[in-house]
Amino acid sequence: MSIQKKQNIILGAGISGLGAAYTLNKRNEESIIIEKDKTYAGLCGNFSINGFRFDRFVHFSFTSNEQVNQIFRASSPDIYKHIPNPFNIYKNKWIKHPAQNNLFPLSEEEKNLIINDFKKRNPITDKIPDNYEDWLRTQYGNYFAEHFPMAYTRKYWMCEAKELETKWIGNRLYQPSIEEVIEGCKTSDTPITYYSKEMRYPKYGGFKQYLKVLAENQNIIYDESVTSVNAIDKTIKTSKGTVLQYQHLYSSIPLPKLIGMLSPTPPDEIIDASKKLKCTCGYQISVGFKTNRIPPYLWWYIYDEDNIAARVYSPSLKSPDNVPSGCTSLQLEVYCNHGDYSNDELIKKTIQPLIDQQIIFEEDILFIDIRFEDYANVIFDHEIYKNRRIVRDYLNSIGIITIGRFGEWDYLWSDQSLLSGLNI
Ligand SMILES: Cc1cc2nc3c(=O)[nH]c(=O)nc-3n(C[C@H](O)[C@H](O)[C@H](O)COP(=O)(O)OP(=O)(O)OC[C@H]3O[C@@H](n4cnc5c(N)ncnc54)[C@H](O)[C@@H]3O)c2cc1C
Repeated sequence: MSIQKKQNIILGAGISGLGAAYTLNKRNEESIIIEKDKTYAGLCGNFSINGFRFDRFVHFSFTSNEQVNQIFRASSPDIYKHIPNPFNIYKNKWIKHPAQNNLFPLSEEEKNLIINDFKKRNPITDKIPDNYEDWLRTQYGNYFAEHFPMAYTRKYWMCEAKELETKWIGNRLYQPSIEEVIEGCKTSDTPITYYSKEMRYPKYGGFKQYLKVLAENQNIIYDESVTSVNAIDKTIKTSKGTVLQYQHLYSSIPLPKLIGMLSPTPPDEIIDASKKLKCTCGYQISVGFKTNRIPPYLWWYIYDEDNIAARVYSPSLKSPDNVPSGCTSLQLEVYCNHGDYSNDELIKKTIQPLIDQQIIFEEDILFIDIRFEDYANVIFDHEIYKNRRIVRDYLNSIGIITIGRFGEWDYLWSDQSLLSGLNI
């Protein structure tokens, strides 16, 4: 068998792998990307059904990084700039997002319970709690914490809040003053406090369009999975038997997967640490409608636990280019620890409650498509930093650089994943 020699091999043609290849191109270094799918973009990609286009989960750009913005602008000069208007469903009521300072639609009884507990809380001062449940109770008071974010944690993170640490929170959860909470109980006319003021999206081609410039002139082998990496010979082997030798190897594939394909087999403590890295999987339930009778919100969260979907967004509201004329679309996101549900069960526990609540109408539905992603969100349990350091240090020690959301094993948005590749 002949072995081709390559200077740089990149595993995965998602946004981080493309970013790495883009940088190497600029340095006049040759590279080759191996990608298991038939096209590039990874989680930033999309799929089409009967003229409807769906991204792989919600996907907007809200980056403030100028280098990323330049690449995105060059790839997609025509964009929509949406002002975020997310909403929540809680006990069948629509509540503006974030719920904590927009409680107007709730009953007087619940508002009083929330305000009273909010007044009793001990706001975070110098020591930030290292456990998410304590952080939520300290930040919002017990009643709100238990009925909103702690319930949502079970749907989104697939664990109890006390099992999570808190460094990932950053500015992701709004922390209102008591005055804002009280004001939000009196009126629905409150200011937008979502952490991003503008959500950008390509007019044409879905979110993937932002990656166009990155993918131009790249040497990509599609439809071949990397199945083994030999760190001594410096070779990789693919599902189609291709063997390539590298000088430098960059990998964006999930750390536990990469560890499983290494030879020689890593020491037990490395394998143990990689097995302890936790991640949610997710279903995309994509629905095409023949009318425009869908909620007017770009995306919404479902707090009620009788609907197992955690979030819903509308591809047709992101861009009308995502649907045939006169039609609309939604995609529901259901998270899980493994592939836990059958298709029938998923429909019964996500679409059916929305029909029962008259949020969508059965007679408008053209199709329902269900897909599964193995890797959605990295779970920030209390051991994550230790375990990922052990695994990444080991990979570095054998000459493998890991990049991207699942190579850094972090809660990276697309811009951060891109930078992780660009900055190799
Ligand atoms: C639910 C959800 C919502 C999100 N919403 C947003 C958002 O609104 N805005 C935003 O900016 N970001 C968002 N993101 C984050 C964004 O999707 C990621 O940061 C980014 O896509 C990660 O890119 P990556 O290249 O690191 O990984 P990936 O996109 O996972 O790329 C890895 C690539 O490796 C390939 N691969 C895997 N195994 C192998 C193998 N054995 N051989 C060959 N190839 C292989 C995969 O097919 C894939 O193409 C969201 C993510 C999720 C999960």
